[in-house]
Amino acid sequence: MKVAVLSGKGGTGKTLVAVNLAAVAEKSVYLDCDVEAPNGHLFFRPEKSVVNDVTVKIPYVDDLKCTGCRKCVDFCNFNALAHIHNRLMVFEDICHSCGGCLLVCPEQALLEKDKVIGRIQSGMSENVEMKSGSLNIGESTGVPIIKSLLELAGNRSELTIIDGPPGSACTVMETIKNVDYCILVAEPTTFGVHNLEMVHELVQIFGKNFGVVLNKCTNDDNPSEAYCNNHQINILSRIPFDENLGRLNSNGEVAVRVSREYKAVFGDLLKAIEVEVSK
Ligand code: SF4
Ligand code: SF4
Repeated sequence: MKVAVLSGKGGTGKTLVAVNLAAVAEKSVYLDCDVEAPNGHLFFRPEKSVVNDVTVKIPYVDDLKCTGCRKCVDFCNFNALAHIHNRLMVFEDICHSCGGCLLVCPEQALLEKDKVIGRIQSGMSENVEMKSGSLNIGESTGVPIIKSLLELAGNRSELTIIDGPPGSACTVMETIKNVDYCILVAEPTTFGVHNLEMVHELVQIFGKNFGVVLNKCTNDDNPSEAYCNNHQINILSRIPFDENLGRLNSNGEVAVRVSREYKAVFGDLLKAIEVEVSK
């Protein structure tokens, strides 16, 4: 079973939910696809972890073959190529590695080389096999790292919890393509509703089965809860606004490993998801 944990923005409690769900299962795989700000490893602190580079293909030109026809420049939608002072220039930081310029070059003057854009850290933390992706600063997209993470994890029989990127951009789309279920984590504010609305729309477009976890709940009115009720969205769990949980989280503790109360909360959440997926 593959479950993605999503939120409309960072800071809603997405990683809190993903880490604790993975830890409460008997055995699981945790994938940190929030490659621009991965922090699951701060909780799992895997021992003897292995780090591998992730590379993409970037074009370079054979000046002896290039005639300066500019067909590649016209083709590149990302403006990553320019022909200036009789030389073709490749702006590597904005190239999206589509490979199209190689195909349109009539002289076969373009070739490809590997470029490191980030890395994947893999290791074990008790019952959790952790893989965490990290995008280098200044790179244009984390999609290749997310693809590598999902490929590395493959189709496992264990529960796979995917800590998704925040928002609803192409990185999130790549993350949820093949998942069985999506959890949308929402805060109890009007701004939280706006963010929830964005990911709600996305999972509907992708036809995904989903439910909501309301985080930081108080006794006051909860606009995100009202949104769920108005749209007949299943509320899977309500996590309280709790100073103790906040302290555990900011100390990098996995709550279910140190608190009986939260072991029960996330154990119940996992059971609720299993029921939803089996429907
Ligand atoms: S690989 Fe694609 S994005 Fe990169 S320079 Fe060529 S056409 Fe542009
Ligand atoms: S398409 Fe080929 S020959 Fe034309 S400018 Fe680009 S690299 Fe040079």
